[in-house]
Amino acid sequence: MFRTHTCGELRIDHKDNQVTLAGWVQTIRKFGAITFVDLRDRYGITQLVFNEILNTQLDDQPLGREFVLQASGKVLERTNKNQTIPTGEIEIEVTGFKILNKSATPPFTIQDDTDGGDDLRMKFRYLDLRRNAVKRNLELRYAVNRSARNYLHENAFMDIETPFLIKSTPEGARDFVVPSRMNTGQFYALPQSPQTFKQLLMVSGYDRYYQIVKCFRDEDLRADRQPEFTQIDCEMSFVEQEDILKMFEELIKRIFKDVKNIDYTDIIERMTWEDAMWQYGNDKPDIRFGMSICTLKKPATVFYDKADHAALINDAGFVVFDSAESVMAIAVPGGAAFTRKQLDELTEWVKRPQIGMKGLAYIRANEDGSYKSSIDKFYSEERLKAIAEASGAQKGDITLILAGAEERTRKAMSELRLEMGKQLGLRKEHEFKLLWVLDFPLFEYAEEENRWVARHHPFTSPKPSQIQTMIVNDPVIHDAANYLSHPYAQIKANAYDMVLNGNEIGGGSIRIYQRELQEKMFAALGMSQDEALHKFGFLLGAFEYGAPPHGGIAFGFDRLCSILGGSESIRDFIAFPKNNSGRDVMLDAPSTIDNSQLDELALIIKG
Ligand code: ASP
Repeated sequence: MFRTHTCGELRIDHKDNQVTLAGWVQTIRKFGAITFVDLRDRYGITQLVFNEILNTQLDDQPLGREFVLQASGKVLERTNKNQTIPTGEIEIEVTGFKILNKSATPPFTIQDDTDGGDDLRMKFRYLDLRRNAVKRNLELRYAVNRSARNYLHENAFMDIETPFLIKSTPEGARDFVVPSRMNTGQFYALPQSPQTFKQLLMVSGYDRYYQIVKCFRDEDLRADRQPEFTQIDCEMSFVEQEDILKMFEELIKRIFKDVKNIDYTDIIERMTWEDAMWQYGNDKPDIRFGMSICTLKKPATVFYDKADHAALINDAGFVVFDSAESVMAIAVPGGAAFTRKQLDELTEWVKRPQIGMKGLAYIRANEDGSYKSSIDKFYSEERLKAIAEASGAQKGDITLILAGAEERTRKAMSELRLEMGKQLGLRKEHEFKLLWVLDFPLFEYAEEENRWVARHHPFTSPKPSQIQTMIVNDPVIHDAANYLSHPYAQIKANAYDMVLNGNEIGGGSIRIYQRELQEKMFAALGMSQDEALHKFGFLLGAFEYGAPPHGGIAFGFDRLCSILGGSESIRDFIAFPKNNSGRDVMLDAPSTIDNSQLDELALIIKG
């Protein structure tokens, strides 16, 4: 037997037991004739004591860090107890040992605070994975996985695998493709998600499906995106939006309970996409804190009935506001006390290229009831007060104002709000706030191609009340500058996103399940009938054989784990991640292939 116990198992109750452990040498400390060795495995660390006789054997067979060691001996009570580890009350008096394997000196220390940089740790990821910090993340990932599976199983969901070598599934990204040797010149695509398969499973009658599954998207990698990532992918038949929201609220609550022991009892808020965009500047608002955006001015072409404060800022002779397409404000609690220097820094912050604003205006709502502003040359104190109040400022707060092109200003304001939330400590790591964002637009306008694209994916249904709008109107956009006035711009989708602390953790929709409507959708996206048949004939065909009403959702598993683990990086929660350029630096992939392989595939590399 290699071992009787693990390195995390022995307690004072085991005193005087004869035991055998096996693990990796963490540290070696020599004190004269005695040597202490910390032996580590997945479960913990146990202190081994090599007394005089064995110590001399150690001279002949010296140990090193990360050697694989088997040691037998007696459990003793320590005189010098270590309260910081569970095995800290005991140690093993070694009576025999065997070096099972040597180790080269590891390129970084296998400790919580390692001296290894990111690249080095990724190159030697198998060593990095020995570190406690990484191991805890993988344990959390497994706990989320187990919790989700248990919940879904209890609710009659069936895990059904779907293929990886498929035909394109559009989810808005580029496909990874795989050449087929047996079908020269033809390619498989790797699934961007199992979307069409899970819908086909509904047609087949498997009315509750799930899979914890890899998805592949060849996107330009923004920080913290992985070309392959994992989803908790689900689909249900005979459901409406409300059924899905309920089912998956409970899933997330269950995961909170199982993994973090959090009873999430708050009612999960719901917000329309439109409100999210106007009040928070993005479609995944962090609602752990308020500071919602007040739109003081918006382009005349944009309709939003909760934003009309133009009268407050117009006609004051302030050319910046007068000439801007839009003006937006937030009230920052306690901000009246910001120093000149702080405000200068904030101004520099909004001027950075990533934010792209020309400047920052402010109004201090002072404790003494006065209003002081960077724009008081143009606005009377009374008007400043009215603007500050419209933004929600109370005494002691500051109203920060940005002006410029609508989209840019909205984005900038959203970033400024998040930054202020961060600076004021309002985005607390251990506070979790869930939100549903609903009523997304069905279509998005693609300027370069002057056509509509699906905002979620082409299988998402319009709101039932707007199906007619889609059917009776021609999708062609004749007046590109005024695309917002096209009836399609107003059509809302039966789609929903779940947001956690400002991150989209899941999204889905109620699907189209009638052939005619699906065909209309493909046509709306500019696909010819032939193209639609070529790409999605299988799905259109399936819809002719009794497709039930259905809908679903997919959660970003890696991101969910990273948020629950209190980390910004999803890589920390993936055993073998890619770096920011999509490389696996351990394997050195992607890499070239042999000419013989290229020949077999009938491929020639250009250039
Ligand atoms: N397939 C979708 C996605 O990957 C999720 C869904 O609509 O269920 O985002």
